[in-house]
Amino acid sequence: MSNSISNSNLNKFYSNELIGFKKKHVNSAKSKLNNSNIFFNRHPMNWMADWSLPFLPLIDQALGSQIRDIDNNTFDDFCLGDTASMFGHSPSAVSNAIIRQSKKGFAYMLPSKQAVNAGINLTRVFGKYQWQIANTASDANRFAIRVVRAVTRKSKILVFNGCYHGAVDDTLVELKRNKTVNAQGLTGQVYDLSKGTLVAEFNNLKQVEMLFKKHSIAAVLTEPVLTNCCMVLPEKKFLEKLIKLTHKYKAFFILDETHTISSGYGGYGIQNNLKPDLIVIGKCIASGITTAVWGMNDRFSKLYQNYLKSKFDGRSGIGTTLSANPIQFAALNATLTKVITRLNYKKMEQGAKKLEMGLNKIIQKHELNWHVVRVGARVEFICSPGPLKNGSEALKAHKPKLERAVHLGLMNRGSLIAPFHNMMLISPVTYDKQINKLVKNFDDVLQQLI
Ligand code: PMP
Repeated sequence: MSNSISNSNLNKFYSNELIGFKKKHVNSAKSKLNNSNIFFNRHPMNWMADWSLPFLPLIDQALGSQIRDIDNNTFDDFCLGDTASMFGHSPSAVSNAIIRQSKKGFAYMLPSKQAVNAGINLTRVFGKYQWQIANTASDANRFAIRVVRAVTRKSKILVFNGCYHGAVDDTLVELKRNKTVNAQGLTGQVYDLSKGTLVAEFNNLKQVEMLFKKHSIAAVLTEPVLTNCCMVLPEKKFLEKLIKLTHKYKAFFILDETHTISSGYGGYGIQNNLKPDLIVIGKCIASGITTAVWGMNDRFSKLYQNYLKSKFDGRSGIGTTLSANPIQFAALNATLTKVITRLNYKKMEQGAKKLEMGLNKIIQKHELNWHVVRVGARVEFICSPGPLKNGSEALKAHKPKLERAVHLGLMNRGSLIAPFHNMMLISPVTYDKQINKLVKNFDDVLQQLI
């Protein structure tokens, strides 16, 4: 037998929590941010609306695994900037490196010794790739897509239903009645993206091969675990077979590790001995200082070199002015040497296992047919039975109204989780007592909801 949560309980709980939230955030409520049009729609960035709060709290400081707002509320932060601050807010090694570099120039469009070190450090941690620097993982994915199309002279890429690779129009597509269409929420896109992108379901090699047979495909771009539509794990050997299939059809495999860097030292690829042709990493790679990297293996790099020799002079459409600036390299080096360490990953994994166990216990206690998934330091509870096999199943598993109420309940009790689905990250500076408190808060919220 499993319990369910009635609509009336849900509505009552949510209304009470809203009252509680408003009481705790008086100064934020009064702020100009929440009472004027200085920012469109009262959000400095559109994603902030995803917090589903009556108004946004203004943050005073974020240090380690805690955030404090201007009303002096402190939160144990399990959102951690949706991975950007996965290693904790403002690690001192990184902030010191930034301060040092800030006295020697911010942006000069030429490399430095720090740049050389960063390349060496990237290879040491993530394996042998020839690296390029970008500002965001969105940019890095966009550039990776561009170069595979250039090298192969094929127009199409293949992605998976439910994927998210950033603000990259080519990947903002979905499956509808088995056909690739522009993502339903995509704003202002006038082109039919199915001309350049195909969508398959994750864990469905048959479908992937059918698409390879029918179309000329330059690359498969995927995360090793779909982390942006709940969490969908690859079935045994799915990724290995997918890479083989990709190569069989003379295409390239791009692995987006932006989120799955949570998996362990070197990311999911290193942990599972996957050998992508191109790799993309962003967000926490420089501890949240705007930086992303993309790398090409030697075979692909050679092909790209050949392409460059044959291409017309002129703008390539790859790179932006502020990419590869010295502040990025300072933050990258400090992160890659002092923050991304095996010891820190060990701590993160231990904490995440504790959280996974704790949440599972509470779900069992309340006899809910929910499940918990973990990928290294990344944990997610899913308000539906599992495991989920693909993006379509993940979409059905998502319960926005219920999740919104749970998030608010947890926040009011001092535990902040990501506004997107139910994601929680454990940093190396997350304490056991913070994990225990989150589990206790989860218990309390469920107790009231059932
Ligand atoms: N790749 C993945 C897997 C992501 O989840 C995201 C963002 N959530 C991105 C790329 C894009 O990152 P950014 O928004 O920093 O460009």
